[in-house]
Amino acid sequence: MRLIRAVVDTRALRANLATLRQRAPGSRVMAVVKANAYGHGLVPTAVALSDADAFAVARLEEGIALRAAGIRQPIVLLEGVFGYDQLREAAHHGFQLVVHDPVQLAQLEEFAGPHRFVLWLKIDTGMNRLGFRPDEFPAAYARLQHMRATPLEIRALTHLARADESDSTMTAEQIARFRQATARLGIATSIANSAGVLAWPDARTDWIRPGLALYGVSPFERRTGEELGLQPVMSLETRVIAVRRVPRGESVGYGSLWKAERDSRVAILAAGYADGLPRSLEGGTPVRIGSHVAPLAGRVSMDMIAVDVTDVPAAVGDACTLWGPELPVEQVAERAGTIPYELLCAVSQRVLLETR
Ligand SMILES: *Cc1c(COP(=O)(O)O)cnc(C)c1O
Repeated sequence: MRLIRAVVDTRALRANLATLRQRAPGSRVMAVVKANAYGHGLVPTAVALSDADAFAVARLEEGIALRAAGIRQPIVLLEGVFGYDQLREAAHHGFQLVVHDPVQLAQLEEFAGPHRFVLWLKIDTGMNRLGFRPDEFPAAYARLQHMRATPLEIRALTHLARADESDSTMTAEQIARFRQATARLGIATSIANSAGVLAWPDARTDWIRPGLALYGVSPFERRTGEELGLQPVMSLETRVIAVRRVPRGESVGYGSLWKAERDSRVAILAAGYADGLPRSLEGGTPVRIGSHVAPLAGRVSMDMIAVDVTDVPAAVGDACTLWGPELPVEQVAERAGTIPYELLCAVSQRVLLETR
């Protein structure tokens, strides 16, 4: 039995999907399950989210893994594909493709297979990462319309750069640019990621594309998923593997970062940066041991952390939670100087994924 486990609550997953549907009642939901479903396990997550209208992944292999597991819903490849081999694979599995680059356009034009793709043309409305600029969009759209292997349908999407910032004017500008570019075409559109769904009603168009919120986590700073009506899905759990006395004046761990200012007790837990716990996690970060909370003592090692349990009971074998419903991953991320997305995606192969 592995000591460290990421326990995934499928009831919470489904509840979050239902909550997001309520927020965008006129939209269909493309559940974003890229990056191993943000660390929650690609296939079990997709199976739990069987009510989703479609799934979105970043890479071809992720889509193939979903099909191999028997997932029948439409699958959107958010970065599209490059090259004829990948196009053939995508056609074989019936994937929908994002088209964001002239190279992809040219390859689609050359593609002669009988398959008729559903294509999502990406408009770059300000992110300057992927997509055609609004002034390039009409020409790209026309090329898709006239290619040899006639698309089954052409749709349009864009991605928001600052939807998590309620005081930024950029989101409204991006939405306006997108609407202007797609007006009069009468095609299906998609704008909203999680923050878009939760904070920007105008972004809730034909399709929404939530990722993080499905996992019960807030995309906004200093807010938790629970405060947004979502239920945390993952608990990262481990156990105490040692409890030791540390006399006043002695230190713990690499670099002696933590020093005992009194005669102390320290619990050693089986969780380290090889499990995905960032080394940047600062001392004092709360850790749950049984039903008590105690502060992280010193540096995260590869396989272990130390927790100051001078003031709380702790024994070898005790169950510990590094994040979960009672210890929001948003707050842990803040103590590591990062965002919850990164913590969830970083949960490593060594952690047993347990779907409940
Ligand atoms: C990852 C991704 C999403 C989901 O973003 P969240 O912030 O997790 O909701 C939506 N759209 C695209 C294009 C993405 O790459």
